[in-house]
Amino acid sequence: MGKLVDKIKSNHEKLHAHKHADKKGKLFIISGVSGVGKNTVLKELFKDESLHLCYSVSMTTRHMRFNEVNGVNYFFVNREQFQKAIDQDELLEYAEFCDNLYGTPKKFVNDQLDAGKNVILEIEVKGALKVMQIMPEAISIFILPPSLEELEARLKNRGTESDDTIFQRLKEAKNELRYQEHYDYNVINDNVDDCVSEIKKIIKSGKK
Ligand code: 5GP
Repeated sequence: MGKLVDKIKSNHEKLHAHKHADKKGKLFIISGVSGVGKNTVLKELFKDESLHLCYSVSMTTRHMRFNEVNGVNYFFVNREQFQKAIDQDELLEYAEFCDNLYGTPKKFVNDQLDAGKNVILEIEVKGALKVMQIMPEAISIFILPPSLEELEARLKNRGTESDDTIFQRLKEAKNELRYQEHYDYNVINDNVDDCVSEIKKIIKSGKK
């Protein structure tokens, strides 16, 4: 009897897994100005396996920070390699941000969506607008800081950038904040737990 129950259970699980693989995943665009706490929020989201998330690792010409790993945070390349990826039509989108190029490898995103994963693109506003055009079904979320003063304090505390870069990133932040209305959802990151639970709700609902 126990064996029969196990068999039924195992068939049910297989069927369930199959059903899941049949269903295409959803694409989520997450943008937020530099220093808003995107990484912390994303780390928390990825702990929840029920969300079936998959992170799209971008390509960038930016220098690797001391706490980053090639192939995990980004694929760190030079301008020539980046240009080659553009020429070979390997990028879903790309944009220049604070003098560096950033782009999303296309094949990985499509493969993961086909495999039923919900793919997260953590990208800046210009690239995000492009993806919204190419893939209008994508669900977009803009993470906002509680205030500009708080943002400046967070950027300085992070200690990963020079004063010049912080100044440049703050200027860019003011510019990027103007794009928030183009996104399906605006979520304020005042308290990380609240921000995470709000985004989880959006992902679970899967609605624009
Ligand atoms: P950071 O240098 O702080 O890692 O990233 C700078 C900005 O580039 C962030 O706003 C980040 O979301 C964005 N970014 C990262 N990867 C991509 C990408 O593949 N495409 C675009 N358009 N922006 C990206």
